[in-house]
Amino acid sequence: MHAIDRVAMNARLHYLGMAARISQPTLKLAVLTCMDARVDPARLLGLQPGDAHVIRNAGGRATTDALHALAISQAVLGTQEVMVLHHTECAMRRFSRSELAERIMAATNHPFHDDPGVFTDDVEAVVEDVGRIRAYPSLAHRERVRGFLYDLSTNALTEVAPQERK
Ligand SMILES: [Zn+2]
Repeated sequence: MHAIDRVAMNARLHYLGMAARISQPTLKLAVLTCMDARVDPARLLGLQPGDAHVIRNAGGRATTDALHALAISQAVLGTQEVMVLHHTECAMRRFSRSELAERIMAATNHPFHDDPGVFTDDVEAVVEDVGRIRAYPSLAHRERVRGFLYDLSTNALTEVAPQERK
């Protein structure tokens, strides 16, 4: 069985009748995090269906795409807080931009020129993404944007970019 068939079957079994009915997240929260398979935002943060938006990409970076999603999340679906959640041992830190481009090119035979969002310091990357979100003018709510680092080895969540003091 292919992986997609397996998870589609899990979805049918697990969420039978459990789907949330209201599209606005009840916690008014959006989480921006990494796609890393070891990070399970729902379990880690205790989120149930309907609680929050979870936006994921490689690194949990505040890319243009992620910012667009946050703008829609706030203006259309009523979220007011943003939690940036990065983690240790991230692949976006292990590789340099050129190494990643080489890997993608080797796998596809097609040149890769986009910025994959690599970083060299876990904490700095969170602070940078929190800063980008706070500076994005298309967000209605920028006063509660906070950044966290999840340590995979200790299972601990540490706040590294607290909300701005007002
Ligand atoms: Zn990662």
